[in-house]
Amino acid sequence: MPKNMTFELAMEAMSKMSLDEINASLADLTKICVCGKCPSYKGTGETRLLFCVTGKRALIQKEKGCMCPACPVTEKLGLRWLYYCMKGSGKEQAGL
Ligand code: SF4
Ligand code: SF4
Repeated sequence: MPKNMTFELAMEAMSKMSLDEINASLADLTKICVCGKCPSYKGTGETRLLFCVTGKRALIQKEKGCMCPACPVTEKLGLRWLYYCMKGSGKEQAGL
């Protein structure tokens, strides 16, 4: 197994949760998502969050910086990518 597989392990753990547990976990993560403060997000009309889980959004198209490395969800899930709103969810970027 490659060195940094924290995200893969987090996804494996999530796959064993019930739907209610997953929904509760996603609601908690959404509360701490900092996408709303991101320069690539502001002014686009986008209202959703948590793109590291939900993936690309058509409204966000220009890379003007990504706040994800400073977001607590990055550490919680072991995320290691950027621009989830444009490049795809962590799962997509991990090739899962
Ligand atoms: S890592 Fe990025 S997309 Fe995921 S919750 Fe944090 S700010 Fe939002
Ligand atoms: S995923 Fe990154 S670039 Fe996209 S809105 Fe969130 S912080 Fe900004």
